[in-house]
Amino acid sequence: MTRARAAVLSALEASAEPLSASRVVGKLEGVCDQATVYRALHYLEEARLAESFVLYCSQHGVERYYASSKAAHRHWFHCESCHRFVDLGACRLGGLIADVEKEMGLRVSRHTLYLSGICADCAAHADCSAHAVKAAP
Ligand SMILES: [Zn+2]
Ligand SMILES: [Zn+2]
Ligand SMILES: [Zn+2]
Repeated sequence: MTRARAAVLSALEASAEPLSASRVVGKLEGVCDQATVYRALHYLEEARLAESFVLYCSQHGVERYYASSKAAHRHWFHCESCHRFVDLGACRLGGLIADVEKEMGLRVSRHTLYLSGICADCAAHADCSAHAVKAAP
């Protein structure tokens, strides 16, 4: 693997959440230029060392996010309130995909799924403020 590809992969691995291409470019400022980062992301995805998905959110609009899949293919949750990603861990869709393959005679090689909504922390805060309003005279 080239130095640039290794640098991009380690930036993805070091991050606790998926990164947009522009954030990877930011993290590798002075190491690789933007075109090199984009090419490296494409290579890593083809080599199945990274995965990407396109997510819409009110704060960031439509963005493609990349995560390392070197250790395991996984899924993410995006909070529409605090805009953090929550790692949902290893994929649990194996059974569903096997059923679809069997029922429809397909062979599935890739899939993308992200969930979005309100994270546990934001849900707890929403509950607190709801109680505070109720408690007020
Ligand atoms: Zn949240
Ligand atoms: Zn967001
Ligand atoms: Zn999956």
